[in-house]
Amino acid sequence: MYAGEIIERGPAGPLYANPEHPYTRGLLESVPRLDEGDQKQLYSIRGSAPSMTTPPEGCRFWPRCDSATDRCVTEPPERCAGEGAKECSCHFAGKLGFEREGADA
Ligand code: SF4
Repeated sequence: MYAGEIIERGPAGPLYANPEHPYTRGLLESVPRLDEGDQKQLYSIRGSAPSMTTPPEGCRFWPRCDSATDRCVTEPPERCAGEGAKECSCHFAGKLGFEREGADA
């Protein structure tokens, strides 16, 4: 869930192994993993959460998204079917290549 909207949901295995929404990916990549030691820099989602009274037009995550395009600024994404029975609200769901190494599927 991001800014009051469900942005991705589905079975835990496929979701953890292959997140399709950039926010889900950011959350998972910001969690320390014991198998990666202490040398890896954790991912950080830039910016801060939007106002709930005046959320951004288009995709609510676009001001913080590393994959945002002009389309994201004006057009809210529809929820669509993703891999492994997931649902995802992103114009580029399944096309951003977020498969996580070592994550259980
Ligand atoms: S629709 Fe655009 S801004 Fe929103 S999560 Fe997907 S790529 Fe990022």
